[in-house]
Amino acid sequence: MRRQRPTLIAVSTLIAITLTTAAPTPATAAPPDQVTALTAHQADGYTTLAWHPVDGATDYQIERTPVDANGTPTAAPTIVGIWRPNRQINQQAPTFADAGYNPGDTFQWRVRARTGTTEQPYSDPVTATTTAPWGNPTTSGEQLRTGWETTHAAQYTNDTDEYAYTAAIDALSDRVRVVELGRTVQNRPVNMLVIGHPTPAATPQAVAATAPVAINCNVHGNEPGDREACLIMARQLAFSTDPRITDLLSHTTVLIVPTINGDGRANNTRGNSTGQDLNRDYSLIRQPETTAYIKMVRDYRPVAGYDGHEFGNSRAGDLPMLPPRHQNVAQPIFDQSQDMIEGHMYAKGAEAGWWACPYGCDGGGNVGLSEETILRNTLGLKNVTNSLLELRSSGGQTRPDEGNTANNRRRKTYSALWTFHQFLDYHRADRADILKARSEAIETQAANTGRLVFRGSRPIPAHPAPHPGDSPPPLDAPPADLILDNPPCAYKLTDAQYNGTRTDGPGGIGTTVAQRIAAHGWKVITIGDDHYVPLNQPERGLIPLLLDGKGVEKLTDGERVHPTVTGRRNGPLTVTGFTCADDATINGPVTVRAGAALVTTATTISGPLTATGAAGILLADSTINGPVRIATTDTISIIDATIAGPVDLSGNTTGTDAPVLAGSTIRGPLNCTGNNPTPTNLGIANTVHGPRTTQCAAL
Ligand SMILES: [Zn+2]
Repeated sequence: MRRQRPTLIAVSTLIAITLTTAAPTPATAAPPDQVTALTAHQADGYTTLAWHPVDGATDYQIERTPVDANGTPTAAPTIVGIWRPNRQINQQAPTFADAGYNPGDTFQWRVRARTGTTEQPYSDPVTATTTAPWGNPTTSGEQLRTGWETTHAAQYTNDTDEYAYTAAIDALSDRVRVVELGRTVQNRPVNMLVIGHPTPAATPQAVAATAPVAINCNVHGNEPGDREACLIMARQLAFSTDPRITDLLSHTTVLIVPTINGDGRANNTRGNSTGQDLNRDYSLIRQPETTAYIKMVRDYRPVAGYDGHEFGNSRAGDLPMLPPRHQNVAQPIFDQSQDMIEGHMYAKGAEAGWWACPYGCDGGGNVGLSEETILRNTLGLKNVTNSLLELRSSGGQTRPDEGNTANNRRRKTYSALWTFHQFLDYHRADRADILKARSEAIETQAANTGRLVFRGSRPIPAHPAPHPGDSPPPLDAPPADLILDNPPCAYKLTDAQYNGTRTDGPGGIGTTVAQRIAAHGWKVITIGDDHYVPLNQPERGLIPLLLDGKGVEKLTDGERVHPTVTGRRNGPLTVTGFTCADDATINGPVTVRAGAALVTTATTISGPLTATGAAGILLADSTINGPVRIATTDTISIIDATIAGPVDLSGNTTGTDAPVLAGSTIRGPLNCTGNNPTPTNLGIANTVHGPRTTQCAAL
């Protein structure tokens, strides 16, 4: 459908028009309060206007006029933007991303300062043709368009169009594989595009080795702006020959889930078809949609993420963002996420003219808090550097032209597209830091030290105004009754708790606790009818939120199991049943009997440590000054350990849950033979001084 051309209106006062260039028009004898040096730089769906600041300006107005190929106005000029000082970090180089027009059309822009309410003279105008929708219309693949693009933002891309469009990308591009992660309650596919260059890695485990990034585009069905950006970006990533794109895709894998909530999108509802807000379900995973996403995180192990939304505060910036704030999120992940937002997005936003700010900014209310049910926090607790992304749903005070629905939708989608590209650039540039933060976070969590908080956020510090970060969201400090200073070693679940039927899913049914723990990827030790979930694991901060009686939104009331071996102990130790050692020094050999389990943190064992047919061995932040031999054992995790060696892992059959050997130093040989599955290092390399056998050669 062709969009309607606006009625031509002659504007006789607009006479100074630059036809072909976005360069500033030289001003002879410009009045002192006139904006000078206006430039217009074109990008995908937006135009960056930049100018020299005027002393004493309170704000600036951005005017846009449609013009024809001859530069003749075809409609009245409109104030489309208000630049305010809190838009950007560098006040001396003002920029404004104008968006909300039909890409490919030609416009003239002028900018004027205001001093209080006094309007100063307009700048000389700049005229330019904006960038058409990405992709050559005559090149196979590139010519694909979404339903939203072909209707000029009159309609959002519907579900059947999405599946056809992504299937076409899959068919036409070697770089893309579309996989189905699961199905919605109403049986719509939850698809993910797996994108790499020249081809994406073949299996989830192989993708995980590329330190992938994940974009969740549409969890709230009535917030569709990010999803359209994801679909456009998928086409760019699939077919672009830009060296930047091929370089990005040669160094990571991009995972795009356009629509986790297909039922909500089809019905334009926030929740899924049962009314459940899926962004309050990522920890509990009662719903099939969230279960599919969490299993994806378990299997593909993204190291960084963005989660797309829209936000209804008309005073907020263009792009409210927020890191995982729950206090159980390891500090390095919080810090890295803040660096991505405040270090990268604020700085790049000031260059491009987009206004990133903390979610909730400027009177946004009690939002952006610590609920672990929210993907931002769930991912943080899973050691993923990540951010929320909100698109201000209305034009608000700074984009007064967005009463036009199509223009409003375009601004939102193209601001999301900018953000997601910046996200990929950040990952490319800061990959080493992201991986270091992840390694440190996993080792910190597995050490199981420090208090546990059941609800409560870290503060987002305010920057001195004017600054995009001058109005952060409120702090929800944890109340005393939601703090546990003495963390247990593990939670013990009865068989009824673990395998019992649940009624908290759609249709009054639900997956079992056992299935949900498996979806999260946590290790469980089963001894008789008891099921132990140790806390010396990478997602230590999330486990109690679901299994402790204090959990605000929990699955069950597990029994806290505290360490029984602490302090100094001389002589051999034979482990029967479930034994937990913390802050212990064991001077003697340790033998774990068949069917028994040993969990250690901050413990030194003189060794040797031997386990045959054990129910589980989980060692973290511990030292073994002798050989370690673990055979035919059900559950194995060794994180941040120092072992004199040799280390022998043989004949262990651990179901779908691979033995973990991560971030450890082994001063002797490492032999791994006949383990099924093959051991994994979670992306954290070990240091092995001796030779290692095939199964552990890559660890
Ligand atoms: Zn939302």
